Amino acid sequence: MLTVDIEKCIGCGECEEVCSFGAISVVDEKAKVDPDLCSLCGTCVDTCPEGALEMESGGPDKEKQDLSAWRGVWVVAEVRGDDFAPVTLELLGKARELADTLSVPVTAVVIGSGVKERARNLITRGADRVIVADHPELSSFVDEAYSKIVAHLARKERPEIILSGATAMGRAFIPQVATMLETGLTADCTGLEIEEGGRNLLQTRPAFGGNLMATIICDDHRPQMATVRPHVLKALEPDESRDGEIVDFLPTPELLEHRVKVVESAAEESEGPGLTDAEIVVTAGRGLEKKENLHLVERLAQCLDAGIGATRAITDAGWISGNHQIGQTGVTVSPKLYIACGVSGAIQHLVGMQGSDIIVAINKDKDAPIFDVATYAVVGDVKEVLPELIKKVCKERGIEDV
Ligand SMILES: Cc1cc2nc3c(=O)[nH]c(=O)nc-3n(C[C@H](O)[C@H](O)[C@H](O)COP(=O)(O)OP(=O)(O)OC[C@H]3O[C@@H](n4cnc5c(N)ncnc54)[C@H](O)[C@@H]3O)c2cc1C
Repeated sequence: MLTVDIEKCIGCGECEEVCSFGAISVVDEKAKVDPDLCSLCGTCVDTCPEGALEMESGGPDKEKQDLSAWRGVWVVAEVRGDDFAPVTLELLGKARELADTLSVPVTAVVIGSGVKERARNLITRGADRVIVADHPELSSFVDEAYSKIVAHLARKERPEIILSGATAMGRAFIPQVATMLETGLTADCTGLEIEEGGRNLLQTRPAFGGNLMATIICDDHRPQMATVRPHVLKALEPDESRDGEIVDFLPTPELLEHRVKVVESAAEESEGPGLTDAEIVVTAGRGLEKKENLHLVERLAQCLDAGIGATRAITDAGWISGNHQIGQTGVTVSPKLYIACGVSGAIQHLVGMQGSDIIVAINKDKDAPIFDVATYAVVGDVKEVLPELIKKVCKERGIEDV
């Protein structure tokens, strides 16, 4: 809770000025805090020239955690079909780097039914140890059971870091794990590093609508938990020579208990390559000017066997479904080739595609921010450039130009 020492406050208004949440106002020459608006960010405390603002602990005093009792880096693996979700392998690559900096092992936690045989794959990708909770009751994903198992294991083994994919599955149960462990969770990180000379995890993610990058630390609690979207990190190449330990964990009936009945699981049907798996993505932006011109992007994507992306401007306008949206509130992609057609390059869009290997941007404004991340810049009207490009691609690939 933020408190004002009335004796010290001189009503200068500096706190009111720096508060981004409009939580402080100076009334009768004294600062007044609206606790409903205050986010406890502490900016005003640092700014007050008189030291009149103070942050008091609002909750019951918790015993300070012994952080040194928590060691090791964990990745909660996501089983997908007969394999693992690509994000699991990407997280293992980062976990390996973090664990080497901290001189601790990497552990992967796998939950499912009939999953033990594939645990070895995780060792070839960077894990030193794999804990496998393999049980017929876990054949379908149920957030309640999964979160209880991970929280139970974490309380017992005390890892200092737990990483998970920011996928539909991770988003459904990892926040529950953080709540059970009474620790923080930074969702959708785009960068993870260990602080210099310490053991805190620096968790970087877009904040304030993507207008700035915030680096978050969880310095009073363990474990430090973060999720990362698919295609943000790079997986290590498999190394068959790596050795590791596979540990069985038999969940108790209490851990398996849940209130959900899975009736059916069905794969989503879609035409062309899935957006997140496509090697080439062609993205439509508002520069196409009207929905009727979207066929140019669709045709180029078809000729290149590419996925179709979109900016939020055009998904909001209803030109194409929200599943195609790339960016902060859409999906993240990192294809070999990304072609941005009439896309301005707002930060909220860039965070979803700037990991692409080659970026080609077509925009009529030579100063458009998309050109700052582009490998090749085409300054021109998409309505003229795209038909020419389609013609060339069709010719190169022997496709009939229609
Ligand atoms: C909290 C939040 C989350 C957001 N999340 C996302 C997100 O996930 N993904 C996302 O994309 N956006 C997101 N946005 C919106 C984002 O800020 C931008 O508004 C959006 O990306 C702009 O889309 P655009 O580039 O298609 O349109 P514009 O910004 O309008 O850009 C159109 C571009 O086309 C160019 N152009 C115009 N006509 C032509 C032509 N004939 N030929 C060639 N070029 C032309 C213009 O020069 C301009 O650069 C978010 C915003 C907020 C606040």
